[in-house]
Amino acid sequence: MNPTDTQHNDKTRLAQVQSVLADDLKAAGRAPGACSLIVVSKTQSAERLAPLVQGQPLALGENYLSGAWPKIKALGNVCEWHFIGAIQSNKTADIAEHFDWVHTLDRLKIARRLNDQRPAGAKALKVLIQVNLDDEPQKAGCHPSELPELAAQIAALPNLELKGLMSIPKPNADDPGQPHRKLAQCLADLQAAHPGMTELSMGMSADMTAAVAAGATRVRIGTAIFGPRPPKDTR
Ligand SMILES: *Cc1c(COP(=O)(O)O)cnc(C)c1O
Repeated sequence: MNPTDTQHNDKTRLAQVQSVLADDLKAAGRAPGACSLIVVSKTQSAERLAPLVQGQPLALGENYLSGAWPKIKALGNVCEWHFIGAIQSNKTADIAEHFDWVHTLDRLKIARRLNDQRPAGAKALKVLIQVNLDDEPQKAGCHPSELPELAAQIAALPNLELKGLMSIPKPNADDPGQPHRKLAQCLADLQAAHPGMTELSMGMSADMTAAVAAGATRVRIGTAIFGPRPPKDTR
């Protein structure tokens, strides 16, 4: 495929995903725009993304700082940057400086570092707490029972704005919406204490419809737009 075909296909598939999202919202009886798209651009080059974001500023999701770097340099001001990867403590300064949102906060130590390293004068960094719904040992995220305490601690940090919850649930073949409803319930349980927590970041290419039906406000979509990524290179 030559580059022009790739660009054409990216635009076409992005438009298709946006239209499926609009249909999913309608089918769920939700308002248009109640859930928005995060284009997961990890592994895609700045050159490939540039024509896609031209004329339509996008929210882009990146999970490795080194991979995100050239793109932020090239497309920085146009796009909104969402960090969706595992956070190592030696990377928090760069994340705090260059991203608008962090979806994968799951411990206080990292929250404090992001708070302390957010540049003076910048708007508060919008953060979501990642929840490990099924208590899978290999997965990041805090346990649902830890949420009230962690949310209270994060909410007290002035340079972070706690916006909601995120998860990467284990697929449930019998009932695809089950994990998403569980995350929605976790959020509902926090809202009395944290009325500003309104965001649910859940739903990827394979489970977008189920996530939207359960109340997702942000879906994170890569494969459905760009096609499959090379195996093992989630960087
Ligand atoms: C890669 C990734 C996605 C996108 O997944 P697709 O299946 O390609 O849509 C969403 N969320 C996170 C956290 C990811 O790492």
